[in-house]
Amino acid sequence: MKIMFLGAPGAGKGTQAEHTAQRLGIPTISTGAIIREAIKNSTAMGLAAKSYTESGKLVPDEVVIGIIKERLEKDDCKNGYILDGFPRTVVQAQALDEMGIEMDVVVSIEVDDDEIISRMNGRRVCAKCGATYHTKFKPSSDGIHCDNDGELLTQRKDDSPEVVADRLKIYHEQTEPLKDYYASKGVVKVVYGQKNVDDTTRLTDEAIDSIKK
Ligand code: AMP
Repeated sequence: MKIMFLGAPGAGKGTQAEHTAQRLGIPTISTGAIIREAIKNSTAMGLAAKSYTESGKLVPDEVVIGIIKERLEKDDCKNGYILDGFPRTVVQAQALDEMGIEMDVVVSIEVDDDEIISRMNGRRVCAKCGATYHTKFKPSSDGIHCDNDGELLTQRKDDSPEVVADRLKIYHEQTEPLKDYYASKGVVKVVYGQKNVDDTTRLTDEAIDSIKK
């Protein structure tokens, strides 16, 4: 199964993608996580992407398309995968089409901007394994360390309030049109993000199961 999560930054794509990956036994491919790992390891791609990502801008299409092409060739993608954070522009969506890749379902997670802003403020991540938490809605067991590996949780630089405002603007201008792009292919399922993560998870499961082959 090939599943794509669409939605504003902070809408909960990563959380739902992680859950769905475990439930269905297929990998999640998050371009944001790949880019953050490359920045951490100071690879050439990481160094090129750093200034874009930390200021909330999109990394150029050709760079992320290259990342995705390389990642989708790996063996673990043979039985399907989940795309989280790709595509983010029409050019990227067209690149998937050109690769002959068709999604079984595109889950559009919808959350108001005001809610996004308050959520991003509380988001925390594990720099080691990439797990995401929220100080209020999804805290780790002790509130400050990752449950998977004990790493101290941090706030992403691009989750600061000024950068979030820019990211939302870019989202509305460049990524939101993808909903219509995929709606015209008849594969979009809308999930309204709920206050309680488990409720959003239940709706996400239902949306995916409704089209499961
Ligand atoms: P995310 O973790 O999905 O919120 O992505 C974090 C950052 O990585 C974004 O703000 C962008 O700078 C960069 N990024 C991730 N995915 C893409 C993409 N598909 N196109 C362009 N930039 C991306």
